Amino acid sequence: MSCLSQLEAEFNLVLNDIDFQTELAIALRDYVGRETPMYYAERLTKHYKNVNGEGPEIYLKREDLNHVGAHKINNALAQAMLAKRMGRTSIVAATGAGQHGVATAAACAKLALDCTIIMGTRDMERQSSNVTLMKLLGAKENKLVQVKSVDGNFKDATSEAIREWVGNLETSYYLTGTVVGPHPCPTMVREFQSIIGKETRKQATEKWGGKPDVIVACVGSGSNALGIFHEFLKDDDVRLIGVEAAGFGLDSGKHSATLTAGEVGVYHGAMSYLLQDEEGQIVPPHSIGVGLEYPGVGPELSFLKETGRAEFYTATDQEAMDAYERLCRLEGIFPALETSHALAFLEKLCPTLPDGTKVVVNCSGRGDKDAETVFRLKHNNLA
Ligand SMILES: *Cc1c(COP(=O)(O)O)cnc(C)c1O
Repeated sequence: MSCLSQLEAEFNLVLNDIDFQTELAIALRDYVGRETPMYYAERLTKHYKNVNGEGPEIYLKREDLNHVGAHKINNALAQAMLAKRMGRTSIVAATGAGQHGVATAAACAKLALDCTIIMGTRDMERQSSNVTLMKLLGAKENKLVQVKSVDGNFKDATSEAIREWVGNLETSYYLTGTVVGPHPCPTMVREFQSIIGKETRKQATEKWGGKPDVIVACVGSGSNALGIFHEFLKDDDVRLIGVEAAGFGLDSGKHSATLTAGEVGVYHGAMSYLLQDEEGQIVPPHSIGVGLEYPGVGPELSFLKETGRAEFYTATDQEAMDAYERLCRLEGIFPALETSHALAFLEKLCPTLPDGTKVVVNCSGRGDKDAETVFRLKHNNLA
């Protein structure tokens, strides 16, 4: 508790610290490449027009164009700066798909901080290109710990990272990649990701002098969703839609649809929805979007579900793969398989929307890392 209190105090200080905020703004601009564009996806829009030529307009908030390819760097960089300010010398982080690991390792290289990334064995196999990037960025090789556990995935890596942090409180900093874990972690990550929504409001004003009517984001643990939602929470005329991973289907038991099919429990320091069995044991999540595989979800998103402010739906592995290919072919953009879940939901959503509805999809990351997987599965299906 004392280290969390200390972290909260320090976080509250930097929120209003002009030097920190200026330094962060410059790094986000010159290192990360913000602001990210809001792109009018003309051919995707056309794909959803009905026989009368009516349909919504689709825009993509291009977080995939960020340095190292996803929204994760917004938070990783800001927290690494916070850690440095607190006098910490080594960073420990857990990663699933490896996107957060790469972002953290990059931020640590830039800021000259030691970096230990913890990743499950199964994830290391599935996302080996990201493991290579992390090693090149200097994540300690002997510490690229292979989590020894039956389901060696993100939840095990997270537990191990928290353990590692608690063992070295004086020098190390646990850098959460998403809006889960004990307070202040979810608040902090949300705050550092909320720039996505702030830019979206500004860009919508510039482009059509209004607000988005609908915002769609994929939900793993919730950081890219909250990052774009937060700015609009008080705008009741903006629909907020989160899309979870239905994996092989909700009935198969092999999915990551925590908000849709989970129950309330306590895990990794927060009360939220969880995938658990009758005895409260965690049920291992599944998704083709490795970054969506977490048995929990951010407590703030759980709150938005309960108040009804945000709506949550699901997309299967197959639907996500189809959406991946659709965006490649129609727009020449490779979306991450995680992001592809949000894009997949457009198939169901768009036919229900009035003509001219402005839909913004948070394009959370780029899908070069997934090209192999999609191509292989597609090829096998054809054979
Ligand atoms: C990590 C990741 C996600 C899922 O995490 P959230 O915290 O739910 O945003 C989604 N998309 C991409 C590209 C990711 O790397």
